[in-house]
Amino acid sequence: MPARPVRLFGDPVLRTRADEVVDFDKELATLVRDLWDTMTDEGGAGLAAPQLGVSLRVFTYQCDGFAGHLVNPTFDLVGEEEQDGPEGCLSIPGLSWDCRRHLHVVARGWNVHGDPVTVHGSAKVARAIQHETDHLDGVLFIDRLDREARRAAMKEIREADWFGRPPTVRLSPHPTNGLGL
Ligand SMILES: [Zn+2]
Repeated sequence: MPARPVRLFGDPVLRTRADEVVDFDKELATLVRDLWDTMTDEGGAGLAAPQLGVSLRVFTYQCDGFAGHLVNPTFDLVGEEEQDGPEGCLSIPGLSWDCRRHLHVVARGWNVHGDPVTVHGSAKVARAIQHETDHLDGVLFIDRLDREARRAAMKEIREADWFGRPPTVRLSPHPTNGLGL
């Protein structure tokens, strides 16, 4: 199954709250497989369904030896420790900025078969879970930056060669400097 094009910053689907998955059917299995294939093709550490233009609450992740998918995920914070470090997004290709996140989380959701799944994530895995869950709420990681950093990030985005192009155009791969999510 070929990877699908990743929707880029500016596409309204990235700003839309995704719907809960109701049917654990063949279409869901196909979506999870497409997410996985696209994430690995693009060298990403995570990918959420809205990034493929599908407004459903599903994401895949692969980092630090952890890999899988979560359907209808939620997460709780574990402790109060935070981390600061480079973060990227496959929908904002080629760019990354330091982003503050919680250090430990526990995520709960379902797998493609409808079985409950719990993921204890720290460091990059925790960052991926927070980043991808944000995607399902129409939130992008630049929203998590402080005001000045966000303004600088927006300037870089507007100057990027991909910015303002039609959302479904397939572009040559852009390396992501940070954790590509
Ligand atoms: Zn992202």
